[in-house]
Amino acid sequence: MLVITHQDFLEEYTSDPAAAPGRIESILKALEGEAVFEDAYPAGHDDISAVHTPSHIHSVERRGLYNIAVLAAGAAAQAAEKGLSEPCFALVRPPGHHASADSSWGFCYFNNMAIALEHLKRNGLIQSAYVLDFDMHFGDGTVSILENRGYVTLHNPESGDRRVYLEEVERGLSNATVDIIGVSAGFDNHVEDWGRVLLTEDYRAMGRMVWERCRELGIGCFAVLEGGYNHQVLGANVRAFLRGLQGM
Ligand SMILES: [Zn+2]
Repeated sequence: MLVITHQDFLEEYTSDPAAAPGRIESILKALEGEAVFEDAYPAGHDDISAVHTPSHIHSVERRGLYNIAVLAAGAAAQAAEKGLSEPCFALVRPPGHHASADSSWGFCYFNNMAIALEHLKRNGLIQSAYVLDFDMHFGDGTVSILENRGYVTLHNPESGDRRVYLEEVERGLSNATVDIIGVSAGFDNHVEDWGRVLLTEDYRAMGRMVWERCRELGIGCFAVLEGGYNHQVLGANVRAFLRGLQGM
């Protein structure tokens, strides 16, 4: 599995749980021997301004978070491009799905997923996309940015019952007829994390569902890290999901 990441994501850029020390390390450790790592580079200003307003971009700059946020967005755009030909994961922070065009909250600054898909769309690499967001929290930022652009179908499964949740995911994917599938991969809905719903094997199952749908349609996929805060289980959950995403 190709993983786009960067040494700078190990830095503790704020005091929120997404930026906690050891979080990215726990994932890197679990992926040892399973992943090929490629360095992220920052997104271009045109990619950021295709999604965010100048006033929001300036507010992220004023908070001293522009460099780390633009690097996460760049990694997502790289993963999306690579994803056209092979499954690819952007191992990044800060996360992005609570970032709207003109504001953000929930440890997010720039919307990595929206920036990645807009990057593909504006470069003529896709006509349509499907986003599965299995983070515990509703991806309000991604929905607000992308739902009216006309080329993206968004799915935030909601059930608190893991079996029903997986059925929702499968049903959503079976209706997706698009050029690429992007996954906002948050792992905070795990039984040992904040949401207390999903098992580690469920992440593998969801990865596998995405892989199967991509195979049926002859398209690619990519994923971007969102939440996930229990460092004891986060690495294993990411690994399980990425195995599924490769059809394993
Ligand atoms: Zn979350």
